[in-house]
Amino acid sequence: MANPWDHPAPEIGPVPRPNAAGLGRVSLRTLAQNLGEPAWRGDQLFAGLYRQRWTDWQAFSPLSKGFRERLAAQVDLTWPAIIQSEPSADASTKHVFALEDRCQIEGVHMPYGDRTTLCLSSQVGCAMGCTFCATGQMGIIRNLSSAEILGQVMAMVLHHQHPVEKPLNLVFMGMGEPLHNLNHVMEAFETLTDTEGLAIPPRRITVSTSGLGTGIERLGAFPRRPRLALSLNGTTDEHRSKIMPVNRVWNLAALADGLSRFPLQAGERITLEYVLLKGITDSLEDGRRLIAFARRFPSKINLIPFNVHEGSGFEPPEESRVGALCRLLSDAGLTVSVRRSRGQDVAGACGQLVRQGQGRPPKLP
Ligand code: SAH
Ligand code: SF4
Repeated sequence: MANPWDHPAPEIGPVPRPNAAGLGRVSLRTLAQNLGEPAWRGDQLFAGLYRQRWTDWQAFSPLSKGFRERLAAQVDLTWPAIIQSEPSADASTKHVFALEDRCQIEGVHMPYGDRTTLCLSSQVGCAMGCTFCATGQMGIIRNLSSAEILGQVMAMVLHHQHPVEKPLNLVFMGMGEPLHNLNHVMEAFETLTDTEGLAIPPRRITVSTSGLGTGIERLGAFPRRPRLALSLNGTTDEHRSKIMPVNRVWNLAALADGLSRFPLQAGERITLEYVLLKGITDSLEDGRRLIAFARRFPSKINLIPFNVHEGSGFEPPEESRVGALCRLLSDAGLTVSVRRSRGQDVAGACGQLVRQGQGRPPKLP
């Protein structure tokens, strides 16, 4: 009988090279040490990547020639690839990024006069299953690493040659539920806010959640953290549970309670995002209940007319209704803005471009 062990050894592919792009300060120090350099050289790598935005090891002028050569020979410096860019008539650009495993995610670059806002993804897909959301319909594929979260920022900053002095705002309102990936979001937050790197002030970073009670509590416990936005999108438990299954676990009363206890800094407010779905969430009674909810804690309201996508089964509200609700809320003394979903002509709401293509990596043969 043939020896069952007597078969050719499986072929093992080359060990992947480490990629420095997206690493935080501590990992870069370790990387420097692994290449025979003192740990503080990692801080020079950090400043080179995030402050100088160098994309080639040869550009790292503070490092010795020998170290640069070792880096070039052994370590990649590769940001996520932008594989599709859809500029919109309103000057925003929606990008599709290909990750190392060929999963795809979306990010949006939105230049406003004196500042630019970047909309970021936190996951490939999303587990929350909100019925109106294209990402929700994909299901969850995986969490993004902190390097992939940071990679979206750096890839867009480099692509658009974002001037160093121009303020950047970041919103986690792309694909995914950031509080389901809080560890990696907070790891990225540390690098994004580091004053020797991109130096983005924490108050310019907003995490938007569908309402994970435990995640909100965990976020509130960080001494340095991003701001919080809640996707309310419904004003009765009955309606909200129908479009956002998470409401069956943390209902409106639990959310209002959790948000009233959220430790806000002076002047800080929680943003309430409210998607207007024609005939479902856009009645004037909804408006009145929204006022009552919003008064429970310091808040501001962002009305978002539904961004239509194929097969969703929902419709955007009448323009006149958007105006009426806006007036109702502002007459009640609340701060209210209407998000004219940017990039509507290029499948603007999150998850729509990727779903047209592929969220998942292609199956192996
Ligand atoms: N998962 C997080 C963040 C990503 S979704 C969250 O739900 O908050 C970002 C925002 O886009 C949410 O407020 C969500 O309600 C909204 N949204 C999703 N699909 C939309 C669509 N088709 N039109 C308008 N807003 C949408
Ligand atoms: Fe996920 Fe947010 Fe979409 Fe809901 S709205 S499915 S939480 S991305």
